[in-house]
Amino acid sequence: MSADEQTTISDLRRCIADFIRDRDWEQFHDPKNLSMAIATEAAELMEHFRWVKNDDALNYLVDPHNRAEVTDELADILAFILSFANATGIDLSTALRNKMDKNIRKYPADQYKGRY
Ligand SMILES: [Mg+2]
Repeated sequence: MSADEQTTISDLRRCIADFIRDRDWEQFHDPKNLSMAIATEAAELMEHFRWVKNDDALNYLVDPHNRAEVTDELADILAFILSFANATGIDLSTALRNKMDKNIRKYPADQYKGRY
């Protein structure tokens, strides 16, 4: 069983909250700073794929070094998303389910299968 299957979002939120509180960083983790942190970490993720052809993007991750670095960037993004949720009291499970309900209505599978 993977760690994802054994870990709740609440567990992850607590992990990030503890890390931030132990360093007295709540003062820096406001929605504006956190939104920028999410965007800059997303840019760091994209940087890995700059100039990599679309068809080669998955193969890029076969290299263990590349995979480890991309995994770190994904974790950075998630950490800031979790911190944003902690700082604002947004319930991520509700947010994602509500957004997916909107996406399902916006993009009916029978009309969008295989199309974007
Ligand atoms: Mg990073």
